[in-house]
Amino acid sequence: MDEAVRSADPSCPDCGGRVQVPADAEVGEVVECLQCAAPLELVATRPLTLVPFDEEEK
Ligand SMILES: [Zn+2]
Repeated sequence: MDEAVRSADPSCPDCGGRVQVPADAEVGEVVECLQCAAPLELVATRPLTLVPFDEEEK
C-alpha cells in the first residue's frame, strides 16, 4: 500500500478520467491520463491542477 497516495486525484481535462499523480510529483512534471493517454502537465500541487500538455507550443 502506498501511504503517500493523495486523497483527491485530479481528473483529466480531456476526458474527465482519473489521473494518477505520483505523490512526489512536482510542478512542471508531465503525467499521462490512464484513460485517454493524453499527456498532462502539472501546473500546481495545491490543489493538484493539470492542464493538457502541448508539445508543439512553447
Ligand atoms: Zn484523459
